[in-house]
Amino acid sequence: MTQTAQDMDAEVWFDLSRNVLKAVNIGVAVLDDQQTFTIWNQWMERHSSVLAKDAIGKRLTVLFPELENSRLHGAVQNALESRLPALLSQTLNKAPFPLFVTPKDAREGHRMQQAIQVIPITAPGMPTHCLIQITDVSLAVNREAILRQQAIELRSKMHSDGLTGIPNRRRFDEHAEESYRLAARNGQPISLIMIDIDFFKQYNDHYGHLQGDQCLIEVATALSRAIKRPMDLVARYGGEEFVVVLPDTDGEGAMKIATDMRSNIEQLGIEHAQSAVSNHATISIGIATHTPTRDAGKLHDLISQADEALYEAKHSGRNRFVCHADLPPSSDTY
Ligand code: GH3
Ligand code: MG
Ligand code: MG
Repeated sequence: MTQTAQDMDAEVWFDLSRNVLKAVNIGVAVLDDQQTFTIWNQWMERHSSVLAKDAIGKRLTVLFPELENSRLHGAVQNALESRLPALLSQTLNKAPFPLFVTPKDAREGHRMQQAIQVIPITAPGMPTHCLIQITDVSLAVNREAILRQQAIELRSKMHSDGLTGIPNRRRFDEHAEESYRLAARNGQPISLIMIDIDFFKQYNDHYGHLQGDQCLIEVATALSRAIKRPMDLVARYGGEEFVVVLPDTDGEGAMKIATDMRSNIEQLGIEHAQSAVSNHATISIGIATHTPTRDAGKLHDLISQADEALYEAKHSGRNRFVCHADLPPSSDTY
């Protein structure tokens, strides 16, 4: 049978309680009805470098003036006056007490992340006391921050192309869908540009795959420089093909971007001895524009039209752009 407190000798019980307070791995501080510390356990001594003898007998806000009118102070008043317990949410009250996990943290001023419970203690014939129980949640908080950061990095990796670092096909798909929907809702034009490097197979064959990769990186960067608005997007569509989404942009605006893109690539001056159209790497471009309405027009058609225009740019000599709107009607597939 377990012995109860009542059965125990009062002195033994007192010693045992004191040793429990000393051993527990949480902070225990008790205030009397005047908000004066009556208990300050070893954990509190260890993490605050305030000794029990210096804490006991002091008022809460005398020992910690920064707590005057804080949430914690309010919770203590509530516990003492209304006998209401409180749990101080860690997100709102990161580190109310100047407590530190290690001496190094103390030197650098990095406070321990604290979960604090404020609990009224009542007993017959005794004024209400208030227990402040503190748990170190620094590890959990740091782990959560790392997980959050990893999730952000993973998400950005999922959406960018491994070689060039620009948005990938998946990102394009999402952004194009969203932009097309917005264009339909707002009755605004949306343009799409398809880009393909000319004679890139020959470039690879002549200069090697590694230099081919380098060329793709430079082209991707130069294309990305041509867009200015936050909703514009240049993505790697696959291989040596790129795609550009231009929300709220008509055909004329898209031609302007296409012209800038061609001139950016020209300025790179990447030598291409095997190209049949230039001494330097060049691109062919297809442009299509829609002003979608709620029930007509599809993103899929916009992409096909830009693709058709690109095909025409290739067949009419490469190193140029073609607008789908300028193609003869027969090539309009829908
Ligand atoms: P065109 O002017 O008609 O576009 O001819 P092209 O040679 O550019 O077109 P084709 O589709 O025949 O060849 C594309 C080449 O792009 C073939 C492939 O080896 C190369 N390529 C695709 N992805 C990569 C890549 O990630 N790195 C490198 N180095 N080359 C790639
Ligand atoms: Mg291609
Ligand atoms: Mg090509």
